[in-house]
Amino acid sequence: MAVSHISNQEVWKQIAGYEGLYEVSNRGRVRSLDRVAANGRKFKGKVLRTVTNHNGHIRVMLHKDRKPKYHWVHRLVLEAFVGPRPENYDACHNNGIPDDNRPENLRWDTRSANAKDRVLHGNHYNYEKEKCPRGHLLVQPNLKPADYKRGWRNCLACARAKNTIYSRPGLKDDFQRIADARYEAIMNR
Ligand SMILES: [Zn+2]
Repeated sequence: MAVSHISNQEVWKQIAGYEGLYEVSNRGRVRSLDRVAANGRKFKGKVLRTVTNHNGHIRVMLHKDRKPKYHWVHRLVLEAFVGPRPENYDACHNNGIPDDNRPENLRWDTRSANAKDRVLHGNHYNYEKEKCPRGHLLVQPNLKPADYKRGWRNCLACARAKNTIYSRPGLKDDFQRIADARYEAIMNR
C-alpha cells in the first residue's frame, strides 16, 4: 500500500526498496521519514540534500542497512509516479532541463529518443561538459577536488553556494548571485 498524502500540493510517495525510510515528491524532492534507531534514539525526517553532476542531473544518497547508495532523482520520481523502467528504456526530461524532475516533465523512453532529445535541446555531452547549469566554466580551479579525483567534473562555485544556502535557507532565492560571487572568487584567486 502506498503511503502517499498531500500537503501544500506536494505529493509524497514511497520509494521502492526503501519503504518506511524515504519518500520522493512530485517536486523532485526526497525526504527521510521519522525513525527510531536500535538504541532508541529518535531521528526526525527531513528533506535530503542533493548532488548535481557535471551535466546538471541530480542525485541523492539513500541509506539502508547502513549502506549508502546514490540514486538519480529523476529515476526515483519516474518509478514512484509513473512506474518501473521498461527494459532498455532511459529516463528523459521532456523540456531538456536536467534538474526539472517534476513527473510531468519526465518519461521513460528509448535510448535513441533520449539521444534525439539531447541534440534537440543542445545539451549533448561535448556542449554541456564546458559549463555547469548555472553557466560556470567546468575548468580548474572551479572543479570540486573530491569529485575530480573520482573522474567527475562538478562545479565548485555551485557546491560552495549550496553549502551557504544550506546553512542559511533564507538566501535560497539568491542562489545564482551567490554562486556567481563564489565563481568570481575561485577564478580570480
Ligand atoms: Zn556552477
